[in-house]
Amino acid sequence: MKKIAFIIIAILMLDFTSAYGWGAKGHDVVAAIAEQHLTPKAKRKINRILDGKSIVYYSSWMDNIQNSPYWENGYNKTKTWHYANVDEGFTYQTMTKNPDGDVVSGLEKLTKEMTENYRNLTDSMRVDYLKMIVHMVGDLHCPMHAGRLSDRGGNGTKVKWFGQNTSLHSVWDSKMIDSARKWNYSEWAEQLDRTDRKYRKEIMKGSYEEWFNDTVENAADLYDYVEELGDTPNLSYQFVYDFSPLLEEQLLNGGYRLAYVLNTIFK
Ligand SMILES: [Zn+2]
Repeated sequence: MKKIAFIIIAILMLDFTSAYGWGAKGHDVVAAIAEQHLTPKAKRKINRILDGKSIVYYSSWMDNIQNSPYWENGYNKTKTWHYANVDEGFTYQTMTKNPDGDVVSGLEKLTKEMTENYRNLTDSMRVDYLKMIVHMVGDLHCPMHAGRLSDRGGNGTKVKWFGQNTSLHSVWDSKMIDSARKWNYSEWAEQLDRTDRKYRKEIMKGSYEEWFNDTVENAADLYDYVEELGDTPNLSYQFVYDFSPLLEEQLLNGGYRLAYVLNTIFK
């Protein structure tokens, strides 16, 4: 009996961790970059909604709330809203959709509420939806949140990370960012956010679906790379070197696009 209970707990924990996006640091970096590119109006409105707290402060709130029974706004069934698992050869448009929702449909729904139905939302809904959008735009740019359904978004692809057993999903959630640099979130934001206006303009357009399909392509590159190395490859310095540009690009683009989304909502 004890053994069964242990197995059930282990399965629950597996499910729990699989929904996490970038670890807290990745989400903080995305939000910190976005904060630098908010319009004065968006900044003012966000400041009012979050009662003086920042979007960085709440960037991981959605990961922490997802198992809470106390969340009152009917959105406690958002476990699947952190990702969309797309099998090889599919795009968001052609994949089989999760009936419980996913990161793209979730963002579309929340953004619609915050733009077209804003007046009818209660204060606490506005707060919740804003915090969710901040988090989910980060997840949308996390490669293994567009991983394959067949391996549960990289959770089933076993790798070693500097000799330790883990999964490809877990490598991208937090191990990459922690191994690539010893920077804190604001140092990451400061070092990455050095582009010109032309670059930002190019990045700050498009739709959730288009951005997500870019992430699907990034995930495909990662699968190809790892499969080439054979079963349970040991990823270490070479992997960090090869994929740091992708990590940086996704954090940066996620930050700019989050600013773009919030500036559009609060215009
Ligand atoms: Zn998440």
